[in-house]
Amino acid sequence: MNNKPSHCPSADMLVEFAAGSLETAESICVSAHLHFCPHCRGTLHRLEQIGSHFMEKNCEAVSHRASQSSGLENQETLLESVMAKIDAAGVDEPAQTTSPKGQFPPLVNKLIAATYEKLNWRRLSKSVDVAGLKTGQNKFEVALHRICAGGKTPKHDHRGLEYTVVLKGSFSDEKSVYKEGDFILRQPGDTHQPMGAQNGECICLSAQSAPIKLQSFFGSMLNGWLRIRPN
Ligand SMILES: [Zn+2]
Repeated sequence: MNNKPSHCPSADMLVEFAAGSLETAESICVSAHLHFCPHCRGTLHRLEQIGSHFMEKNCEAVSHRASQSSGLENQETLLESVMAKIDAAGVDEPAQTTSPKGQFPPLVNKLIAATYEKLNWRRLSKSVDVAGLKTGQNKFEVALHRICAGGKTPKHDHRGLEYTVVLKGSFSDEKSVYKEGDFILRQPGDTHQPMGAQNGECICLSAQSAPIKLQSFFGSMLNGWLRIRPN
């Protein structure tokens, strides 16, 4: 059985992560996914190698440019030569190729420790508990969600972006089944109704750029509770 995550961040998002240009909450979610995903760790390693080769060659080009007049031509050929060199040399694999099982990513444990003396769940609906996390930013609300075994969450849509990383167990919705390590991005307007797996609770890390909007009558009663903040 393949236990590797099958839902990953886009290549563009990994490039932004490597460049340090993602929002803090988005970086937290990508970091959590990397904890479980050897494929994305390998991609990130390759991006870092390209970055360091590029920096090295760029420094050489700057020093040469002082004595040569064909600076623009050098700039155009620089990236090609770096890429060719990396392809010819091959790419070292990162040392760790297996994913640790049954452990939260260290970054998530640090966020929990920074927020609570111990993890403090509160009831969001009959099947879902939530524990907000302090992350030092306010563009996204970052939280852990726990869905009980076989529990159905209220059907809801999204007014903003929502990133979800499965940390423990699995859940499904109308589109797919999501297991440990999977990275899911919901766009504004997406509607879904997640359901916890029958064989155990599911815990997810989530980052929401705006509160979700519940669709059912019962859900509408919960809407006022959905701004998720740590106590
Ligand atoms: Zn991945």
